[in-house]
Amino acid sequence: MKIRPKKSLGQNFLKDNNILDLIIKLGDIKSKNTVIEIGPGTGNLTNEIIKKNPLKLIVIEKDNELAKNLKIKFKENIKLINQDILKIKDEDLVNENMIIFGNLPYNISTQILINWIRISNLKNYCKRFILLFQKEVADRIIAEENSNKYGRLSILSSWKFNIKKIIDINPNSFYPIPKVKSSLLVFEPKQKHHNLINPKNLEHVTNIFFNQRRKMIKKPLKILFENFEQVATSLSLDLKLRPQNIKNSTYYKICSIYEKSLK
Ligand code: SAH
Repeated sequence: MKIRPKKSLGQNFLKDNNILDLIIKLGDIKSKNTVIEIGPGTGNLTNEIIKKNPLKLIVIEKDNELAKNLKIKFKENIKLINQDILKIKDEDLVNENMIIFGNLPYNISTQILINWIRISNLKNYCKRFILLFQKEVADRIIAEENSNKYGRLSILSSWKFNIKKIIDINPNSFYPIPKVKSSLLVFEPKQKHHNLINPKNLEHVTNIFFNQRRKMIKKPLKILFENFEQVATSLSLDLKLRPQNIKNSTYYKICSIYEKSLK
């Protein structure tokens, strides 16, 4: 069957068997795991997942043509959802002992990540995510403070996840060959994380800070708090620092103070 890859759906199929093997190894699939594969495409990885005999394999593919082919190829071995992942309520996908794989357009991977971060008790369900990102995005996710790449994405992700970068992947590993490098990341939910009332508050707080990442933090603090000087003192924050100089644990504390101020 001839597949014409669609650029609009970010279709770059992984064809490098070494990388496919590595992804499967990282997944560490056991017979009790429910596996979710987002954007299976032509099913290269799907094929390998099935060999590991998970309890259940749910695949979510937006492209109608690819979805039809997947159904023919894998029949009863998969539960196919022919839909846009962003239109599915993530809570509906939640299963026990879940492992999630995805090689998607990078903007969708980022959105998926943020959606899953919003789910409370994620650690009770989800074992790990194995996701491919455009290298620049992966670098932003794993960045630490005092780096230009550090920002919202790093702070939000490390609130809920321990994240490990495994490897950069050469464009030649895909067909068609993309213009950018990719990186493979593994996310495991933290057993303990800073308690917040609503993750959207952390999204808001980090938005206010990093909207103007070159400005001193006095400005965003002033936007968020009437008593901004008191807040700064309580956290021993120098108002002349820039957003990128603040540790993520401090952002979680700022968010807690913000949540209290909303009451
Ligand atoms: N995982 C496969 C395919 C990667 S290409 C592989 O590694 O070979 C990206 C895949 O994501 C394509 O199959 C594309 O159709 C699918 N996709 C793109 N946007 C999507 C969305 N919003 N929801 C579900 N699938 C999507």
